[in-house]
Amino acid sequence: NISADRPVIRQLDDAAINRIAAGEVVERPASAVKELVENALDAGARRIEVAVADGGKTLIRVTDDGHGIAAQDLPLALSRHATSKIDGSDLLNIHSFGFRGEALPSLGAVGRLTITSRAGDEAATISVSGGAMAPVKPAALSKGTVVELRDLFYATPARLKFLRSDRAEMQAISDVIKRLAMAEPFVSFILRDVSGGGEGRVTFRADSETGDMFDALRGRLSRVLGAEFADNALPIDAEREGHHLTGYAALPTYSRGSSVAQYLFVNGRPVRDKLLIGALRGAYSDFLSRDRHPAAVLFIDLDPHRVDVNVHPAKSEVRFRDPGVARGLIVSALRHALAEAGHRASTTVAD
Ligand code: ADP
Ligand code: MG
Repeated sequence: NISADRPVIRQLDDAAINRIAAGEVVERPASAVKELVENALDAGARRIEVAVADGGKTLIRVTDDGHGIAAQDLPLALSRHATSKIDGSDLLNIHSFGFRGEALPSLGAVGRLTITSRAGDEAATISVSGGAMAPVKPAALSKGTVVELRDLFYATPARLKFLRSDRAEMQAISDVIKRLAMAEPFVSFILRDVSGGGEGRVTFRADSETGDMFDALRGRLSRVLGAEFADNALPIDAEREGHHLTGYAALPTYSRGSSVAQYLFVNGRPVRDKLLIGALRGAYSDFLSRDRHPAAVLFIDLDPHRVDVNVHPAKSEVRFRDPGVARGLIVSALRHALAEAGHRASTTVAD
């Protein structure tokens, strides 16, 4: 009897769908922090505070001073594929970090999520726990948004088991904040470890909200990567066929034994892209032995229609329409800067 064995097709419910999506979007506490801080940046925040307990496993709280969410929009913010950032008609025209409308519903499916926000003169709060949403209630908040995520992965114990030590998870969170702090030198970031009463605190303060981008970036890099990087870094500013390359590249003498000090951004978004990393290596090939790795913080900015950031849900991969242009620009701009610096050094010696 064939029909007895035939499987039945069923539509999954929202909670199950969100939990599955969470598996792609939220791998560990650091990915939750990345989504929440990116939301704060998309909301135009100038100051973002992240409080974390137990490596983010029991608590992640992100407080921002951005434009907030209206009370009636709070349930929508927690719904799948609901976003204020794109209109769906032009999926390539993306100017924000977010656009999938997946982060908040995913986090609400695998943890206990509370959003409190103020837009205009009304503040309200909403909670969702393991996918079950409570109604919106009035709240007190002077500005912006507070998103609190407790007990991440309590609803998915298998995922919980794969988390690393609190220390290792905190390190990954700190890396996320550092990358975003490099991309946004005019925004202040505060990371606090509130485990057991509040111990650690890292602050990247923005000295001003406007001014020269290169000065602000150098100041920020010296805080994030250390004064030694900033002292050894050459400013990069080049353009080719609508691709703009800016940032700082370190002298070959400041190279590292691994690729830890390579930070690449496409349209302000931190990426780990093989093409770009290969170009960076290529640029230094005449200056470094194979076991040494260049240190650099580089930003490529181009028309969003010429780069696809839609490749992966965690959005750290990109696809260029003209990969040869991006690669050629990095190689030539960095070689030029390094040759100039070498030339200056050798003429100083000759003098
Ligand atoms: P996405 O960022 O892809 O739009 P999210 O699930 O991360 O999706 O967020 C859903 C929506 O909630 C956003 O489009 C935005 O309108 C709103 N939102 C989320 N976080 C904030 C925040 N910190 N400040 C203001 N609005 C927010
Ligand atoms: Mg988002």
